[in-house]
Amino acid sequence: MENNSNTRFGTKAVHAGVKPDPTTGAIMTPIYQTSTYVQRSPGDHKGFEYSRTQNPTRFALQDSIAALENAKYGLCFGSGLAAIDAVIKLLKPGDEVITGDDLYGGTYRIFTKIFAKYGIKFHFISMEDVTNIENYINTNTKLIWIETPTNPMMNIIDIRGAAAIAQAHKILLGVDNTFATPYLQNPLDLGADIVMHSVTKYLGGHSDVVMGALALNNDKLAAELAFIQNSCGAVCGPQDAFLVLRGIKTLHLRMQRHCENGEKVANYLANHPKVGKVYWPGFETHPNHEIAKSQMRGFGGMISFVFKEDDMQQSFRVMEKFKHFALAESLGGVESLANHPATMTHGAIPREERMKVGLLDSLIRLSVGIEDVEDLIEDLRQAIG
Ligand SMILES: *Cc1c(COP(=O)(O)O)cnc(C)c1O
Repeated sequence: MENNSNTRFGTKAVHAGVKPDPTTGAIMTPIYQTSTYVQRSPGDHKGFEYSRTQNPTRFALQDSIAALENAKYGLCFGSGLAAIDAVIKLLKPGDEVITGDDLYGGTYRIFTKIFAKYGIKFHFISMEDVTNIENYINTNTKLIWIETPTNPMMNIIDIRGAAAIAQAHKILLGVDNTFATPYLQNPLDLGADIVMHSVTKYLGGHSDVVMGALALNNDKLAAELAFIQNSCGAVCGPQDAFLVLRGIKTLHLRMQRHCENGEKVANYLANHPKVGKVYWPGFETHPNHEIAKSQMRGFGGMISFVFKEDDMQQSFRVMEKFKHFALAESLGGVESLANHPATMTHGAIPREERMKVGLLDSLIRLSVGIEDVEDLIEDLRQAIG
């Protein structure tokens, strides 16, 4: 179908990027499980030479993700981190990046342990008030990189505000949109230059694929990133592209349920006598709730909470008792997951740094799935006691 920007989200989720196969009319995009393509005469081919560079299944998925983000271009990678890796490779030694102080642990790790040694400088700062970004801008600043909602503290960063600062200083703004998904938030429409997804999470949606994606509108930037994608080679395979094309067809239905269940679970936890703070942007008491409302169409199913006493052993006992929430890293699948950031996803961040942002030892992060919410609440009731 045409990627017409007037088309509504659910229709795009089902159809965008996907055309009946020209050979047979197959309605599902075939898995082009091939590394190379036969040429009639040297250089005389059908636009496909080698699968690192071009693969029809990946191309269909890239078009689908681009359509969901109202973007001109989509690029898929072997993982979310491979997508971030490609973005940072736009930079050169001496360049500086301003980023948040509450980031996915793997993003923090690639910045500090891989790219810092190539002479790129990262500033990890509080961005709940985006004007703080201005304090760190100098002539070397090339990129502002934000996550919103943040992982796992569920802080909200004002994308429009960050975009205004980035544009005024001719700096790129990249947004990790993994938690919100394009169903809830479209950063490019709010002024960002690049949007990134860990496709592993909600876009794939079934906990069976590891993949990343970028979406963007700028022709020159897209050409540079496609050049990096092909030169460095961290592409996704065709079978995984097929699985994600299939997952995306129900993204809108899944997200609707994640949001409904998320709201009920968040309210249950907020009223539980043993539970301390609950972090969820849908609460009116959330410090940036108004910004969340202005840039998101719903608040999602990601929730973090701590106990009244910051007791890691209590959290461990609760997580061991869960029957429906599976104790696992990752998020965004149809099944509910519980994660202990301090020892699992965010173990790479020193305790001292974690404490600064309120990531306590007892903090549990829930990815609320699409099961019957009564069962999920019953599970929390029996596990927390
Ligand atoms: C999981 C995740 C990543 C990394 O993605 P992978 O697919 O695991 O490489 C980046 N950002 C956020 C917010 C994530 O949750």
